[in-house]
Order: sequence, then C-alpha cells, then structure tokens
Amino acid sequence: MTTVLKIDPKHPQQELILQAAEVLRGGGLVAFPTETVYGLGAIATDAKATARIFEAKERPATSPLIVHVASIAQAARFAARWPDEARALADAFWPGPLSIVLGKSPIVPAAVSGGGETVAMRAPAHPVAVALIEALGEGIAAPSANRSSRLPPVRAEHVLKGLDGRIDLVLDAGACPGGLESTVLDLSGAKPRVLRRGAISLARIASLVEVEDASRPASEDSSGWIRMAPVGEFEFTEVRSGAILVRERALAEGVAVRVLGEDARAYASRMYDALHELEDAGCEVVWIEQLPAGSDWDAIRDRLRR
Ligand code: AMP
Ligand code: MG
Repeated sequence: MTTVLKIDPKHPQQELILQAAEVLRGGGLVAFPTETVYGLGAIATDAKATARIFEAKERPATSPLIVHVASIAQAARFAARWPDEARALADAFWPGPLSIVLGKSPIVPAAVSGGGETVAMRAPAHPVAVALIEALGEGIAAPSANRSSRLPPVRAEHVLKGLDGRIDLVLDAGACPGGLESTVLDLSGAKPRVLRRGAISLARIASLVEVEDASRPASEDSSGWIRMAPVGEFEFTEVRSGAILVRERALAEGVAVRVLGEDARAYASRMYDALHELEDAGCEVVWIEQLPAGSDWDAIRDRLRR
C-alpha cells in the first residue's frame, strides 16, 4: 500500500514532514517533490533502504543515485574530500539543480555509488525536500520517482502511475515548478566535466570553473515514442498521435496537441507534464516540433532525445 499525503508546497505542514521522515528512518521509501522532478528517496546511509529503490524502480544496480542534502557541511560527509571548486559551485548554485560528483567517503553504501568510487550530491531548493532532509537529519538518496526508462514524474499522479504499491509514501505537493533534471558535474577527476546536461547551463558553470562537456551525445534517431522533426516532416499514420509545438499551428484532425511556446524556461517547465498528458491520452507516437536554435534550448533538446 502506498500512502499519499497532500502537503503545502510553500509551507509544508511539519506533522506530515515528521511522518515522512519516520518512514525514511525505518528504511522505507518516500517520493517527494524537488524543484526539478519528484524523487524516490531512502535514507542515504542505509544499504538495505537504498537497495529497495532499485527494486521499486527496476533500476540497473550499476546506475548510481544522487544524495540530497540540506547543506555543504552535510554533503561533505559523503565525499572523501571537498575541494575549493566544489565549495565555489555549491555556494553559487545550491540550493538548486546542480549535482556534484566527488570521490565517496566510507559512509556511502555501494548501492548509492552504483558500485563505483564516486558519489553525486545536491541540495534541492523545494521547501518540502528541504524540510524532509532537515527533519531526517541525514542525506536522502533519490533518483527520479519513475520506473526505469519511463517519463520523469512532475506530479504525484505520475509517481503513482509507475510506483503505486511499490513504495511506502508520496508527499503530494502538486506540480514541480522546474522541469529539467539537475545538471551532473563530475569534480572527481583532474578537470571538471559535465556528465549530464540539465537545468543549470554549461555557460553558467563555465563562468566559475573551466569545464568540459562530457555528456553522452543523445541519439538523433527518430524512431522511438518521441520523434523530433520540423512540423512539415510529421507523419501521422493510423495510430493515435500527439504533437508538442513551439507555436500554435493547425495539424491533422484527431492529433492531441500541446503548444509550449517560444520561451525555453517556460517550455522546460511544462514539457514533462505535457508528455504525461499525451501518454495518458493513449498516444503511441509524439511528434516534437524542432526546437529553436540557441544554447537555452540545448539541455531541453538533449532530454527530449533520451
Ligand atoms: P536520476 O535521478 O534518475 O535522473 O538519476 C541520477 C543521475 O545522476 C543519473 O544520470 C546518474 O548517472 C547520475 N549520477 C548519480 N551518481 C553519479 C555518480 N557517482 N557518478 C556519475 N553520475 C552519477
Ligand atoms: Mg531518472
């Protein structure tokens, strides 16, 4: 049984936070909102609890989890060392959607590091996430609260689509404000490297440290559920189709359309929600209008291609 607790996104009720923290302390799984997407949390220092995340999500054991913290001091306990670059970046972007990868300390369970020698950490900004970490008094290991390779959840309903009955609790604070996932930045090597593009742009990171883009190039292949193309190249067959447009346009009758606009930030904040709506409407293919040029759109393009 999965319990759903409605909670105020701006001023979370302390009794609900304490209830959720108690579940985590007992080794349970709690889905909670962050400013990016809903996370599926377990107490980060407990090997058994963190292993349950992999079962619930059907996530490959080699895929590491991000530890969510409330402060640099709390993060530093999970890392073998906390270099000056990490301090500068955390000062600039925390709380916020930047995950910092460093060599791990002995308190990090193998499940959290995916069996590797490093750990990713970030301090989320969402008041519910902050209150939960503070009430627990410990870091929370949390990947996105979806089944592996499904759409990231930005509402409690999306969490339940994949995980109802598999997790203990969902803190339902409505829609996540952000949209894109955190940017993953590796500081464990000789030079800072971006491993995953996300909510904080490469340019903003580059203004503080010299950084290399080591993110895996996304496939340009256009044969999956999501297909990106100029509108003229959309092909509507007999299957139920959806489309996500930048600008309003007339498309074939019966196509489920969402128009997300020409502002990259607004587009990102609506994108996953719109994809869930089209999935729920039974669309078997979703055509995405080719995105405008410009670096503001890079991370969005990258996420949509995966
Ligand atoms: P998710 O929260 O489901 O998007 O997954 C966490 C993301 O963070 C994945 O892209 C992981 O590969 C990445 N990540 C987490 N821990 C590490 C780590 N120690 N080294 C590199 N990437 C990591
Ligand atoms: Mg994920």
